[in-house]
Amino acid sequence: MTSTTYWLEHSWPGQGEVDSSVLLEVDNGVISKVTRGVQAPPPGSKVLNGLTIPGLANAHSHAFHRALRGRTEGRGASTTTFWDWRDQMYEVAGSLNPDLLHRLARATFAEMAQAGITLVGEFHYVHHDVDGSEYSNPNAMGEALLAAARDAGVRFTLLDVCYLHGGLGPDGYDEPSPIQRRFADSDADAWTRRVAALKPSETVRVGAAVHSVRAVDPSSVTTVARWADQRAVPLHAHLSEQEAENEQCLAAHGATPTQVLFDSGAVNDRFTAVHGTHLSVIDLATLGGAGATVCLCPTTERDLADGIGQAGAMVAAGAALAVGTDSQSVIDLFEESRAIELDERLRVRQRGHHSPTALLTAATAAGYESLGWGKGGNLDVGSLADLTNLSLDSPRLAGQRVSDLLAGAVFAATASDVQHVMVAGEMIVSDGHHTRVDVAAELREALQ
Ligand SMILES: [Zn+2]
Repeated sequence: MTSTTYWLEHSWPGQGEVDSSVLLEVDNGVISKVTRGVQAPPPGSKVLNGLTIPGLANAHSHAFHRALRGRTEGRGASTTTFWDWRDQMYEVAGSLNPDLLHRLARATFAEMAQAGITLVGEFHYVHHDVDGSEYSNPNAMGEALLAAARDAGVRFTLLDVCYLHGGLGPDGYDEPSPIQRRFADSDADAWTRRVAALKPSETVRVGAAVHSVRAVDPSSVTTVARWADQRAVPLHAHLSEQEAENEQCLAAHGATPTQVLFDSGAVNDRFTAVHGTHLSVIDLATLGGAGATVCLCPTTERDLADGIGQAGAMVAAGAALAVGTDSQSVIDLFEESRAIELDERLRVRQRGHHSPTALLTAATAAGYESLGWGKGGNLDVGSLADLTNLSLDSPRLAGQRVSDLLAGAVFAATASDVQHVMVAGEMIVSDGHHTRVDVAAELREALQ
């Protein structure tokens, strides 16, 4: 039994206020004891100065989009819409192979670790070879991602995406385009057979995803939802990111995307809707009533000119909020979580919708729950020993009063303030540096 004791100068345990002088005991990757009011670090304990919070959960990632950073954001006139951006993303998707994906994802997950992210939910849909045929190992790409997550030391949920059709037109579903053939299994049963061969481990779980109502027909959604239900694993789907998706879905099915997913049996308390930017009042009530999660990805949604989701109305309806870095235009969950509140202020021109505690919960416990790790996102006895420690010596956070630390962190911290990161009791980032990966060098090499 390996037991290590940490003395935390200041800590936020996942609810309530910031506490000071807390002793945390970690046994075999789990928090086994918490003692408050320990004024000085006992001999043999490791000292974590600054602010320690539960590890951050990135509930929506496409690792390979890291290759798009800087290449697409600046192209104003040539890429005015989401759909123009998608064509550029497809070019990158077309260039991947298992080895390149492994190197790019390993560096990207290590960048996430250095930003304080302890759990990644990877929404993975580039399954097949460039001509659409299966690799000799049909999960070669998914397994490349699992290996990358293990290398980078992050906890991981592979959300293996069912993707069948090229789009949804007035006459029904289109055939996949040449590039989309890399994403598509022949039908939902073929998806279930392929995914059955993916093996979870102590820090890796496998969940299900439906790409969107554009790419999966209702009866196939039902097949995927049943698979997830039988295993009690998470089910994620892109939902109503663009108004065009709503219009196409209404024209083809006479119902909104949310309604189609609900009628297909996908929407329950293990379901996470990604984006949910353009939802009706009934859609909001459907998601909230089911206890579903909505994963907002504000830095991507602003980059792609998607619009601003109604985060306050989602919470009022009963939905939980999580956050994701999605297209990796930046990797910074402090930026994603404060954007929930700040974008809402811009949208309704009023302040004070989401408390700092609620915003940080979206980036921690709610993300863990959404990705099927219910025992994470807290610093309580019995919780996973995943934590993120912020320096209070940076110009952004220096001089903050303890009573304002949480708001200071949520509204001003950046990924650069992260100094130590622990996953399952192991430090994967120490003094701001990844312990196994030279992040900048490996990103440079993979992005060549
Ligand atoms: Zn996405």
